Parts: sequence; structure tokens; C-alpha cells
Amino acid sequence: MAGLANLHTPDELHEAFRQFLRQRGIKYTGARKKILDAVLDLTDHFEAEQILYLLKDRGLNVGKATVYRTLPLLVDSGILKQVRFDVKQAHYEHAFGEGPHDHMVCRRCSRIVEFGSEEVVALCEKIARQHHFHVISHRFQLTGLCWECSTQCPVVALPPSGE
Ligand SMILES: [Zn+2]
Ligand SMILES: [Zn+2]
Repeated sequence: MAGLANLHTPDELHEAFRQFLRQRGIKYTGARKKILDAVLDLTDHFEAEQILYLLKDRGLNVGKATVYRTLPLLVDSGILKQVRFDVKQAHYEHAFGEGPHDHMVCRRCSRIVEFGSEEVVALCEKIARQHHFHVISHRFQLTGLCWECSTQCPVVALPPSGE
């Protein structure tokens, strides 16, 4: 579904990001390049703070604001996917190189469970087709209690989730 699914090498991803930014009239600065390098070195789910830490560890001087502004651009470009939308601190992961998957987030212990569903992918494509919409990415997240928490904490005892 995402056009970047077949782009794997850092060079290709840098080029894709450069083109994405150019289309929006945004300059591909050295700082943004360093951020993408750091992003490519992280695996699994990560937060902006981890990028900041990694850049600092490498002795690179990239401002916090630049990191926080660049991550959403990486999401829009299809390189990153945002995981977790119910917390202040967004979590990200690579949107390329593996099959599309979605997440279940435990409200109690914050565990993130990944799952892949061809039905979800097919449904997204079907809905997009019906609306003549070109899909770049999708967000689908289930929130609730993981198997461990649901045995320790009956759902009925939980306060209203506010959703
Ligand atoms: Zn849990
Ligand atoms: Zn994931």
C-alpha cells in the first residue's frame, strides 16, 4: 500500500525524503539528514527522546525542536509510522521493510502487541477505492487490556476511558 515498501537502502530513503521535502518547499538540511540516519539505526518502537539521545551520543548538535518537527514529516513521507495516539509522547517505527502491521496497546501496562491482518489492509484499500482516495498510510489501533492485565484487573473495575 505504501509506496516506500520496496525502498530499503539508506540512500533510497534519503532520496525519497529529499524529494518529499522538495515537493513541500522544505529544505533538506544537514540536521534532517542526521535525524533520518538516527531513525534508520533504531529498530522496534521508539520515541523522539531516543533520537535525541542517539544524536547526542554521536556528538551531533541537532536541536530538540528540529527533531520534534522532523518526525511528523518522516511519517507524512511514508518512512515512519506513528504508533500510539493516546499518549503525549508519540512512538514511531519504520514503515518500510516489513509487512504492514497494526497495534494493540494495553492501557494498564502500556504493552504494545503487533498484529498483521490482510483483512485490515484489504478493507483500507476497498474504502479508499470507493472514495477515490490515494492511501499513503493508515492508523488502526486497538486499546484495552493485555492478557496479563485482564486477569489481574477486571474490565468492570476500570474507570471510564474517556474515548
Ligand atoms: Zn497490560
Ligand atoms: Zn509495530
